[in-house]
Amino acid sequence: MSNSFVLVINSGSSSLKFAVIDSQTGEAIVSGLGECFGMPEAVIGWKYNGEKTEEAISAPDDHHQHAINRIVKLIDTLGFTSEIVAIGHRIVHGGEKFTSTVRIDENVLAEIESIADLAPLHNPAGAKGIQAAMTAFPSLPQFAVFDTAFHQSMPKRAYTGAISSDLYTDYGIRRYGFHGTSHYFVANEAAKMLNKSVEECSFISVHLGNGASVCAIENGQSVDTSMGFTPLSGLMMGTRCGDLDPGIIEFLLKKGWSQEKVFDALNKKSGFLGVSGLTSDARGILEAMENGHQGARLAFEVFTYRVAKYIGSYLIPLSHLDAVIFTGGIGENSLPIRREILNNLKLLGFVEDEKGNEDARFGNAGVIAKSELLGAVAVVIPTNEEFVIAQQSVELL
Ligand code: ADP
Repeated sequence: MSNSFVLVINSGSSSLKFAVIDSQTGEAIVSGLGECFGMPEAVIGWKYNGEKTEEAISAPDDHHQHAINRIVKLIDTLGFTSEIVAIGHRIVHGGEKFTSTVRIDENVLAEIESIADLAPLHNPAGAKGIQAAMTAFPSLPQFAVFDTAFHQSMPKRAYTGAISSDLYTDYGIRRYGFHGTSHYFVANEAAKMLNKSVEECSFISVHLGNGASVCAIENGQSVDTSMGFTPLSGLMMGTRCGDLDPGIIEFLLKKGWSQEKVFDALNKKSGFLGVSGLTSDARGILEAMENGHQGARLAFEVFTYRVAKYIGSYLIPLSHLDAVIFTGGIGENSLPIRREILNNLKLLGFVEDEKGNEDARFGNAGVIAKSELLGAVAVVIPTNEEFVIAQQSVELL
């Protein structure tokens, strides 16, 4: 049988991540990243067979197109061209229009562009990636997988803001949620681990990476999530503030801060970075904490406390709980952060399995705690969003 590989593209405003994924196994055959687009230092690098290569993009402009053209050449040199059956694009915002993965045509592309208002940094970049890929691979079918789609099952009471309903009808202001592909994937994997069908499972999925969000999943469907109208709300993140009293914005504006300065502070200078005054990276926080850095300790405490508070409150939408699922770079790897979150959940009966917690790291899934009280476990499941994008693209073919 010939392989069915999917080229997965995640196009950002100044970067483009890509991977050739085996849609049967989820294995990344080759993966890479183009960065610093729009600047003279634009580069593209990739990893193949454990070997890393990096190349400058010498063209003066349109770095998205040049990066994709280079990927075409790379795939050709590696001899995979005939095995690529589809291109799957990760698109951040699907608004209320896209509730699942779709095949891209001119109408879909126009819709993605029209949602740009809701995701001004991400959707235009995603559309750019699609256009460049259409030019480079005119005969291949292309699919769009949306970060928001999984959360379109949320009931009205969960996605409605407690604000004037005109703001929803006039501007579409509501909770959309993000990280949907990851929450969907880990929920399905956790159901397999528990030997149950995902339709009968209730989970609280906790994705902790540079961005972080919690999702309540009932019968396999998202019923609430902590990111909202934008990815700024909910948990504390690497550089984002998460939930915050909006009165602070008014206060800072009255202090003479510009709108840009306020939102730069909330998006890029908050979270781990802001609280610690040191770094946005969880590993850096943990290291500094061991060396007695007070800001790093406070960042660790605020982060873990807030994650636990969300887990507790996300029992509310569920009929029962099968598992709390940890995923994302921090959720998959950081034993001390998971331990502290579990410590904060003692009232829910969670008792850590210390060996399980040590073993479930660096790509290994496993059970890390149990609650007799809730009849639930806490598990670690490494996420694989690219696999979902490849699988769903091939399913739709
Ligand atoms: P993104 O949201 O950009 O995809 P990731 O899911 O890769 O991010 O998560 C990045 C975060 O994971 C960083 O804060 C990083 O420090 C953290 N991380 C990765 N490995 C470890 C580890 N071994 N211990 C603690 N944190 C880790």
